[in-house]
Amino acid sequence: MNKTRYFFVFNQNKLLLPSDADLSKGLDLLIDFEHLAVSEYQDQAVTFKQEEHAHFSLIDTQQEAIEHPELRQVSLREMLVEMPSEAFYQVAQAWQFALFMRTHQFCGRCGARMDKVTWEMAMHCHTCHHRCYPRVSPCIIVAIRHRNSILLAQGARQKEVGYFSTLAGFVESSETLEQAVHREVFEEVGVRVKNLEYFDSQPWPFPHSLMCGFLAEYDAGDIKVDGKEILQADFFDIDELPTVPPSFSIAGRLIDETRKRIKQ
Ligand SMILES: [Zn+2]
Repeated sequence: MNKTRYFFVFNQNKLLLPSDADLSKGLDLLIDFEHLAVSEYQDQAVTFKQEEHAHFSLIDTQQEAIEHPELRQVSLREMLVEMPSEAFYQVAQAWQFALFMRTHQFCGRCGARMDKVTWEMAMHCHTCHHRCYPRVSPCIIVAIRHRNSILLAQGARQKEVGYFSTLAGFVESSETLEQAVHREVFEEVGVRVKNLEYFDSQPWPFPHSLMCGFLAEYDAGDIKVDGKEILQADFFDIDELPTVPPSFSIAGRLIDETRKRIKQ
């Protein structure tokens, strides 16, 4: 039986699509998409996933800008907003693998050239047998409620887009997710939290995070920000929120869930 063949063609840090592509069509845009403009890269096509009815390949044209009247470059963020989420995560996975191959050409242990493993997403060194897998960086993200309010903060990045969000940060080596929540909250805003409850997770390919969401209650302390990572933070009445992240992000969903808990 013929499998549907999907081609993800990356150029610089974006996906190449037909100029008139309607992103809401999702992966249908990528069926047999081996465009003439990238034909010189055809022999670099890498199969990164096979399913019963589908075959997924990627071509990474790397940094050289490809300009063609029938093509446009689409950023991951644009796809996150406009594509059906299942399609977005397929693109994100292809991008993670392209990025992984770009950054693992040579062995980190002995310096020899690495080869792609054919049966799993990995790069292998045949000289010293060191094997690498695509990097995933766990992050915690937490919504803290206190009476009728929620703690929201604004870092430089949120300030750029004009919204306040829940606190988030990377998990450190040898730390549990819960320890990371307590440490990050205290470091970023100087308060203590209690009654942590796991909520959900979301892959966040910017560039390779896994957001692990928690709900928590305020316990003690006064808000104090460092003015660098966090510019301002405050408890906001749940009925009078500033602009917050949209609900396709786990931050938006944590805020929605906190509103529900407060209204219960
Ligand atoms: Zn090696």
